[in-house]
Amino acid sequence: MAKDITTLERVGAHPALDFANTVSWRGQARAVEHLRSYDALLAWSRAAGLLSQGEARRLRRASAHDKRRTAAALRRALTLRETIFVVGSTLARDSLPPRAAVARVHAARLAALAHARLVPTARGAWTPTWNSAPSDLDRPWWPVALAFASLLEQPPRYPLGICPDCSWLFIDRTRNRSRRWCSSGDCGNRARGRRFRVRHRSR
Ligand SMILES: [Zn+2]
Repeated sequence: MAKDITTLERVGAHPALDFANTVSWRGQARAVEHLRSYDALLAWSRAAGLLSQGEARRLRRASAHDKRRTAAALRRALTLRETIFVVGSTLARDSLPPRAAVARVHAARLAALAHARLVPTARGAWTPTWNSAPSDLDRPWWPVALAFASLLEQPPRYPLGICPDCSWLFIDRTRNRSRRWCSSGDCGNRARGRRFRVRHRSR
């Protein structure tokens, strides 16, 4: 069953990986799609801190008026998400991602950059904000596209990992790069339970 999207665990340690993780058990019979509507996408973006309450409200209103454009915007967001998964999962397996997928990341980054601008903050740093009209239904994935492109440009000091059970992606921050599961309290426990049962059956 799809979880309440606002309480979906964020174990990726990166917004783009968490976005990729809005499908559980991808490619398996028990796959669960957590982003089943544009509203779910807005709720996820809000919970991830990538969208203000006002923006979410305006986008929700705009989306209600145009089902066809809303469906197309959701499709584009999901295409980016699957691209992030393809690139992230191949990197997690120490392989080179397919060129077409990298080209899609590049295109999404350019599309996002066309709307990004830097504004100074009180603390003297600069923060990106978005030039967007309430009718820019692609707004939710722009920060995800930029964040993923920067992850590729400046690979983290820690390697990317992929959970062997649910296929969620994460940055492995363990000191000896030993993280195997998305979260030890979830898939790791299930796997340990399975191993335990298999061991006991084989006795
Ligand atoms: Zn997992």
